[in-house]
Amino acid sequence: MSSTLSFSTMVLNWFDRHGRKDLPWQQHITPYRVWVSEIMLQQTQVATVIPYFLRFMERFPDVQVLAAAKEDDVLHLWSGLGYYSRARNLHKAANYLIENYQGVFPNSVETLCELPGVGRSTAGAIAAIAMGIRAPILDGNVKRVLARYQAVQGWPGKTAVARTLWDIAESYTPEDRTAEYTQAMMDLGAMICTRTKPACALCPLMESCVALQQGKETCFPEPKPRKILPEKSVRMLMIINDAGEVLLEKRPVTGVWGGLWSFPEVITESDLDGQVADKVGITLDRIEKWEPFRHTFSHYHLNITPVKASVKQGASMVAESGRWQWYHFDNPSELGVAAPVKKLMEKLRQSL
Ligand code: SF4
Repeated sequence: MSSTLSFSTMVLNWFDRHGRKDLPWQQHITPYRVWVSEIMLQQTQVATVIPYFLRFMERFPDVQVLAAAKEDDVLHLWSGLGYYSRARNLHKAANYLIENYQGVFPNSVETLCELPGVGRSTAGAIAAIAMGIRAPILDGNVKRVLARYQAVQGWPGKTAVARTLWDIAESYTPEDRTAEYTQAMMDLGAMICTRTKPACALCPLMESCVALQQGKETCFPEPKPRKILPEKSVRMLMIINDAGEVLLEKRPVTGVWGGLWSFPEVITESDLDGQVADKVGITLDRIEKWEPFRHTFSHYHLNITPVKASVKQGASMVAESGRWQWYHFDNPSELGVAAPVKKLMEKLRQSL
C-alpha cells in the first residue's frame, strides 16, 4: 500500500475488501434505521446491539410508530442496554420529528443536531450514511484511528483536542463515497485499530501512521486524567406479598435509571422497618440480607445490598398509583428495568 494514495482512498480500498456490509442497519438503509443504530452503538458493541436493533425495528418500524408508543414500552425494549437516557431521547426525538418535520428527517447536520440525544457525530453519520451528504463523524472508533494516525496529543475530552480531531476528520472526509467511507472508518476502529491490541500489520494506514512509526500506538488517544470514583451505598428492598408479588417503584425521570422500575431503596441499615413504614406504609417480616454487590456508573460506584422481606401488614396500603406496583412473576407485565434490578429479579424468582 503506497502512502501516496490519499487517506480516504486507502481506507476505502480496505473497506471494499474487508469492511462489514451485512449488519442489519446496513440493509434497507433509511435515516430512521441509521439513527436508531447509531444511538444504540454509542457505548455498546455491535454484537450486543444486533438483537436489540432487530427487536426494536420489529416493534417500532418507523418514526410514527415510535412517537406513538408509550415511553415505558420503549424503555422495556432497551432493558439491559444501559444508558437509558438514550431510549428516552429517541422517544422524545421521534415526537419532535412528528411535530416539527412531519416525521421526515431534516437533511443537514445542523438541523439533525436539534434532535434530543443527537450530537454532531451522530448527525454526521445519519447525513453521510443515509443521505450521502459529505459530513465528518468523530465517534469513539474514529477518534482512536485519527488520534493514532496523526499522534494527536491530549485527551479528546478537552475542547482544543476535540477541535483538532474534528479538523482532521473534516479534511479526510471525501466528496465521493461518503457513506462507505463513514462506515469504513467505524469498521477500521472496531476491527483493526482496536483499543488495546491494534492489528497494525493488517491496517491500510500502517505506512503513514505516526503513532506506529513512534512505536506508541496504544498511547493515543490519551486517556482521561484519572480520578477516584466516589462510592455510594443503597439497600434495595425486595418486598414480597402473600400473592408472591414483589413491590416495584417507578424511579424519578431525572437521576440514574430515570423512569425505570426498581426496588424501593433505603440508604441506611438502621431502623429498616421504620424507614419502610414511612416510605411505603408497610410493616416487614422475615428480613433476609443478601450478599452485597457493586454496580459502577461513569461517575460513581454504587454498593447495593439486596434485602428480601415479606409483608407483615399494610400491603393494601400501597396505592395502585403510577409510582408503585406489585409485580407478578407468573404474569409479568412489560417493564423497563435496569440491568442489576433485572438480575436480582431473576434470583428472587428462583428463591420463591
Ligand atoms: S497503523 Fe496501527 S495504530 Fe495506526 S491507524 Fe492502523 S491500526 Fe491504528
